[in-house]
Amino acid sequence: MTLAFAAPPQVSVPIRGTDKRFPVRRIYNVGRNYNEHVAEMGGVVGRDPPFFFMKPADAIVTDGRFPYPPMSADVHHEIELVVALGPDAEIFGCAVGLDMTRRDLQAAAKKLGRPWETSKAFDYSGPMSEIVPMTKPLTKGAITLSVNGAVKQKGDIADMIWGLSEIMVELSKLFELKAGDLIFTGTPAGVGPVIRGDRLEGEIEGLGKLVVKVV
Ligand code: MN
Repeated sequence: MTLAFAAPPQVSVPIRGTDKRFPVRRIYNVGRNYNEHVAEMGGVVGRDPPFFFMKPADAIVTDGRFPYPPMSADVHHEIELVVALGPDAEIFGCAVGLDMTRRDLQAAAKKLGRPWETSKAFDYSGPMSEIVPMTKPLTKGAITLSVNGAVKQKGDIADMIWGLSEIMVELSKLFELKAGDLIFTGTPAGVGPVIRGDRLEGEIEGLGKLVVKVV
């Protein structure tokens, strides 16, 4: 087989403790998975079945720089636990991620019943940390995000409405999960806007930190 032109480079993420990198296939995202965030977004608190959306693999950013996207004046941070799947779609590891969101475009899309790609799947919308290898799902641990040193988001993985195992079961009903897939598992309360120059510092107990500069 000869390609007509060079294929795009494989997107990959560093793995703690090794020179090998994690090759990214797909990025699944869970919407509204912490009740306090559901409430702040004007939703009904409860345990509705989880819903999903996606980002393209090349939305991943691992160099700690988030370029403020065009066509939006209200870009929000959403700190999230990210699960990485390895061979046989087993849990390979976990990481700290940001589901960056053009909130203004998302609000407009919701109002019109339109898709979310422009608000969620834009270029550089998925900054994340190195992957910490582990084979069991994280079930608890503080998850926080500060902007320029001030804590904005604070929660605990234990407060996820749908835990990692349940999310994987629900996703598997809809898609074939495969090695290389990442799952962003939803954000706790306290989402808010960022501006150029902001320093975002996310942390999940047991995983470490993700530091991102908005440029
Ligand atoms: Mn999110």
